[in-house]
Amino acid sequence: MSQAEYRAELRSAIDTAKQHPRNAMPEIATTLSIELRQSGSRYVAAHCPFCDRKGKFTINQRGGEWVFGCFRNSCEGKRPGDVISLLERVGSMSRRDAVRHLLDRAGIEHPYDRFMREREEGRK
Ligand SMILES: [Zn+2]
Repeated sequence: MSQAEYRAELRSAIDTAKQHPRNAMPEIATTLSIELRQSGSRYVAAHCPFCDRKGKFTINQRGGEWVFGCFRNSCEGKRPGDVISLLERVGSMSRRDAVRHLLDRAGIEHPYDRFMREREEGRK
């Protein structure tokens, strides 16, 4: 497998993992102790995990992708992000760990692990 092939496989695995119901952002936010209430199609946090303000941090879907953001201008959470970004910025995970976490939750084998397994099997 070439570098380019590997990167394409990883990208596609991440896309699939992000669509998995277990990785829906409200679900992940709850695992990060963010308290949410549903308001129509969006979710509002009791307290923003960045600035702690009430009712400023929301989660919703844009074009089928979950996105979070805080309405407060001076908040670090103002910059919107996806579920990987939420794990990085609120869960203090590295991007690598966040990706593995989502793949595990979706029951998808990491392309790197598959590559290593197939190489190992090829040796037998
Ligand atoms: Zn905030």
